[in-house]
Amino acid sequence: MTETILVTGGAGYIGSHAVLALKKAGYNVVILDNLSYGHPELVKEVLQVELIVGNTGDRPLLDKLFSTHNISAVMHFAAFIAVGESVKEPAKYYQNNVTGTLTLLEAMIAANVKKFVFSSTCAIYGMPQEIPMTEKHPKNPLSPYAASKYMIEQILADFEVAYDLKSVAFRYFNASGANPEALLGEDHNPETHLIPLALLTALKKRECLYIFGTDYPTEDGTAIRDYIHVNDLADAHILGLKYLLNGGESNIFNLGNGNGFSVKEVIETARKITGREIKVIETERREGDAPILIGSSEKARQILNWQPQYADIETIIAHAWQWHQQRHN
Ligand code: UDP
Repeated sequence: MTETILVTGGAGYIGSHAVLALKKAGYNVVILDNLSYGHPELVKEVLQVELIVGNTGDRPLLDKLFSTHNISAVMHFAAFIAVGESVKEPAKYYQNNVTGTLTLLEAMIAANVKKFVFSSTCAIYGMPQEIPMTEKHPKNPLSPYAASKYMIEQILADFEVAYDLKSVAFRYFNASGANPEALLGEDHNPETHLIPLALLTALKKRECLYIFGTDYPTEDGTAIRDYIHVNDLADAHILGLKYLLNGGESNIFNLGNGNGFSVKEVIETARKITGREIKVIETERREGDAPILIGSSEKARQILNWQPQYADIETIIAHAWQWHQQRHN
């Protein structure tokens, strides 16, 4: 029997890539997405799976969903993700990310669905005390966004003890890139991420790109991040799902490349790939930014046998560029 997976936030950036990977792996997929940021046209044209429009905090909707679909597991991507906004509007983040997830988990327990794959974030570590960061790194979330993700990890641990809910939480480093055939990609509104902003500047959709900080203790003075291709993230989710469906214990894994690139290196690579001018203005550091974030994903490699396919920054940016050109032309 083909198993059906509920994907919350499946109309968004990482969720949509996971849905495509699930379909390729032979699963049925149902998406729950409130479309506050998601792209229904991509669900219809590219993903071609059932889309239920609604909130993860809508218990009657969830009860109906679980009683009318034979769901084997849930992949939970739906969340607000803007760090700066979360500082200004924490209630919005705790309401959606924590309360919404709690309602989803309660509905799952009531429906006896007990496998959960969760999108967490390396932001829960706060300022790095060692590089590369492993899953054991001390946790010090610096924003309501990061705190909301860490709270869910703690809720998941308690739900395992009380209700035998088995979960895999993935702590992403910098999700980036796009589907290699340019079917899907990154399209946030407002956009805050470095790679799409660099490409939008190359496309002349933006006048210039601001470099946030040139006085970091790094070789060129700009901050270093671990960029991980969204398809590699999606593959890890399939492996995490299979691990749970095969009876695996709850677990937490970093997902990163293990390679760091500076803001200036990313921009230089974007100039090379696009062959276009990208005008930059050097400005102050962005509040809350760490100088260097690089993750160790040894645990995911060893336990899940995860092997990233697109580890170099050129390929990540080339795939993102194909998508952006297609999306904006
Ligand atoms: N960044 C930048 N200009 C921008 C957006 C981001 O210099 O317009 C920098 C940011 O300060 C960080 C890196 O690029 O050092 C990656 O930022 P992004 O927002 O893409 O991801 P984050 O690391 O915050 O999750």
